[in-house]
Amino acid sequence: MAVQTVHTTSASDESGTGTVDLGPAAALSCRECGERFALGPIFACESCFGPLEVAYDLPDDGPDALKKRIAEGPDNIWRYAPLLPVPADVAAHPSTNPGFTKLVRADNLARELGITGELHVKDDSGNPTHSFKDRVVAIAVEAARAFGFTTLSCSSTGNLAGAVGAAAARAGFRSCVFIPHDLEQGKVVMAAVYGGELVGIEGNYDDVNRFCSELIGDPLGEGWGFVNVNLRPYYGEGSKTLAYEICEQLGWRLPDQIVIPIASGSQLTKIDKGLRELVKLGLVEDRPYKIFGAQAEGCSPVSTAFKAGHDVVRPQKPNTIAKSLAIGNPADGPYVLDIARRTGGAVEDVNDEQVVDAIKLLARTEGIFAETAGGVTVGVTRKLIEDGRLDPALTTVVLNTGDGLKTLDAVSPTTGPTATIRPSLDAFRAAGLAS
Ligand SMILES: *Cc1c(COP(=O)(O)O)cnc(C)c1O
Ligand SMILES: [Zn+2]
Repeated sequence: MAVQTVHTTSASDESGTGTVDLGPAAALSCRECGERFALGPIFACESCFGPLEVAYDLPDDGPDALKKRIAEGPDNIWRYAPLLPVPADVAAHPSTNPGFTKLVRADNLARELGITGELHVKDDSGNPTHSFKDRVVAIAVEAARAFGFTTLSCSSTGNLAGAVGAAAARAGFRSCVFIPHDLEQGKVVMAAVYGGELVGIEGNYDDVNRFCSELIGDPLGEGWGFVNVNLRPYYGEGSKTLAYEICEQLGWRLPDQIVIPIASGSQLTKIDKGLRELVKLGLVEDRPYKIFGAQAEGCSPVSTAFKAGHDVVRPQKPNTIAKSLAIGNPADGPYVLDIARRTGGAVEDVNDEQVVDAIKLLARTEGIFAETAGGVTVGVTRKLIEDGRLDPALTTVVLNTGDGLKTLDAVSPTTGPTATIRPSLDAFRAAGLAS
């Protein structure tokens, strides 16, 4: 399904004109049937409608040379440019330059959870717009530039809209993004403040996504790069950088277990792709790792399918405070099931109360204030430890993908001042807070 006819020339275009330089990206290949297509703004296989992904000619100069090149790169995702669908000089382009966020050794949280091995939190709230979405958008921007798009767009559960707005502002694109009308104020304001167009759609995320698919097929959407629709194969690759960073920050070592939140499932599938690439390139020693997926009970189509032993994911109507994960019909759901099963992991869910408890647990043990998605991941980690599916003696990495300041409503009813007093020592004494 060719969605745009503009600028679909590619590196394999034999006419030699208008070649697209996306570095080591060689082609798009179908995840279902393997058919290959020239690099372009397409996302579904013409033969079987399967999703397309980027195929590479990866560097073959050996692990030591590659590690050296990476180490000499900038302190952001562009240090991994040799493994991404971006031109070699990408670091010189205007970008929000996300990535290289902290990997926090979480000993206090480990003690509370009964983890005796190493526990780390990969804290992606440190990105420019305070969620992991800056990674995927930065890659999509390079594809949009290569294909000649002038407007950036997306269907978003909130964080993506902010990341697109910021990246467009910085890189000189127009932006027009679409969100469900009832998102958290923090996400709405962040999506609007960068000056692009923001449209609230009366419906849930799945309605927004359907609307965007129609817009792409219409002359109204001509020249628009939808980062998570017609640029989705490139967008997805941005999540590989989480895998690269985690392994590099562990001293070029695979974690044994990794817990990842699931909305569409793109992030989880691409972290697995990134880990496998590192093994193939010899940057890490090949040993088994388990991937665990985390959902909120109020939107748990993937964990429901996992528990039932199904291969297909039945859509749900979302109802959860974890709005950034509220995708009832997740595009990559079946691939998430494959990965969880192949690696010996699992997909689990927690309810809204457990999400709030987990946000507070992470905050009071490690000083990290996570958004609801982070609460889902920490809550699921706790559940998996309690029922023995996560091995407490191994090295575990838990993702925090967003910032608690964007979802204050989740905790504000139960979090506030311990006391409000007159400015006098007597009043403070009366409050009983002196130690
Ligand atoms: C979008 C998002 C995710 C998950 O995204 P996928 O669609 O599964 O790739 C996780 N956490 C946060 C905070 C998000 O905004
Ligand atoms: Zn196919």
